[in-house]
Amino acid sequence: MPTLIFDQSIPGRRGVTIPASGVPERDLLELLGPELLRQSPPELPEQSELEVVRHYTRLSQLNHSIDTGFYPLGSCTMKYNPKVNEAVARLPGFADLHPYQPAEQVQGALALMYDLQSWLGALTGLPHVCLQPAAGAHGELTGILMIKHYHRHHGNRRTKVLVPDSAHGTNPATAAMAGFEVVTVQSNERGLVSVADLKAHLDDQVAAFMLTNPNTLGLFEEDILAISQAVHEAGALLYYDGANFNAILGAVRPGDMGFDVVHQNLHKTFSTPHGGGGPGSGPVAVSERLAPFLPVPAIVRRPDGSYALDFERPLAIGRMKAFFGNFGVLARAYAYIYAHGHEGLRQVSRDAVLSANYLKARLGDAYEVPFAQSCMHEFVMTSDRQKAQGVNTLSIAKRLIDFGIHPPTIYFPLIVHEAMMVEPTETESKEELDRFVEVMLQIADEVRDTPDLVNSAPHTAPIGRVDEVLAARKPNVRWRKPQTAR
Ligand SMILES: *Cc1c(COP(=O)(O)O)cnc(C)c1O
Repeated sequence: MPTLIFDQSIPGRRGVTIPASGVPERDLLELLGPELLRQSPPELPEQSELEVVRHYTRLSQLNHSIDTGFYPLGSCTMKYNPKVNEAVARLPGFADLHPYQPAEQVQGALALMYDLQSWLGALTGLPHVCLQPAAGAHGELTGILMIKHYHRHHGNRRTKVLVPDSAHGTNPATAAMAGFEVVTVQSNERGLVSVADLKAHLDDQVAAFMLTNPNTLGLFEEDILAISQAVHEAGALLYYDGANFNAILGAVRPGDMGFDVVHQNLHKTFSTPHGGGGPGSGPVAVSERLAPFLPVPAIVRRPDGSYALDFERPLAIGRMKAFFGNFGVLARAYAYIYAHGHEGLRQVSRDAVLSANYLKARLGDAYEVPFAQSCMHEFVMTSDRQKAQGVNTLSIAKRLIDFGIHPPTIYFPLIVHEAMMVEPTETESKEELDRFVEVMLQIADEVRDTPDLVNSAPHTAPIGRVDEVLAARKPNVRWRKPQTAR
């Protein structure tokens, strides 16, 4: 690990020269009040510009990223983010806007948002869209709260939300946060929702069924029309977790499958850098019956072609976020969509699905693939066989780091033991996919011949194995000035 330059502060050393303030001190006192003025300078580390540049450049190189290597992290869609998106998001006319500017002054930004809403409406088959939610999980909360208000508006207080046992953890968490009891629906032996178990749980207390299609095993729910019919016959609504839209972009629409509401992760499917906590964007798209409940303000187009913010929506659930969403992510998604167009977006999904099936076919002998049917944009393997040889999935994941490859998602979905969930995405070349295959096959050989080598990996990373539980429960992310003895 490089040493922290913060700990090597040298008093008086400077990287920048701050110009003298043009505001006289007595005016500052009057403007801010004495309580807001510092009495002593902040205790910031003092270093030269060169040392600061080297420090942050070294730090940035410690991280794996999609710009430095393959990143097959299932369910996360770590695809390449084209740099033109960054240029668009940084255009001064977008980046320098202030959220308090009146609508007349931000017509370009509103036009972009309106247009993006239309695209998302067209791609989902659910025409009414709100761009406010700041992440996928936030979009889920928005959607489920709308469903709650919908039932209340119709005089029902339904108490339960159904989720499949393969669901992403945010689904049950969302339903619980919105005050619902979470009821699990079993998957069948093919990794799909058991329609019989679903029907057994459907009654007049069920508000919604939350589903992902393809599901988190990367499998397409072929019975989706029977599922949506059963859910609607019970008076419940169908929620689509569209975080993994990469699989079906331009090929099939949740609205046509009978879903009432979908959230999308713009930061996954529509290529915004993510991982490490955001910012993201999780717009929701809904059918006619949920449209009145969408958050305010709505972006509307007036007959004269200008755009405005509409707050007059009596049934709206309120606001889900200060201002209008993470606008920079919206600008990136817009750029991505226009760079591809209809046909290009369709090709994205075809290629994502092809890549996943290619890897599944090539790795299916060395590792076990529990569900044999062809997959969508990702697939799940198990290292049960390797575990029997004394090496678990965690060690295989750690060993991949030695080859400059980010591990896949592991131990998820929960219904597959020793799971490894691989999502190659459409942006990797066949050569890179082949290299991944060679590495995985080599690791399978190592498990058989030199298991200690795998069990003690990683060998090349700056940090070996960390206590992940401690890191999650007690994250230490703040620098404090070391206490020096006086
Ligand atoms: C990523 C993901 C989410 C959550 O999205 P965030 O933006 O991380 O909140 C929800 N569901 C699925 C299936 C996902 O892959």
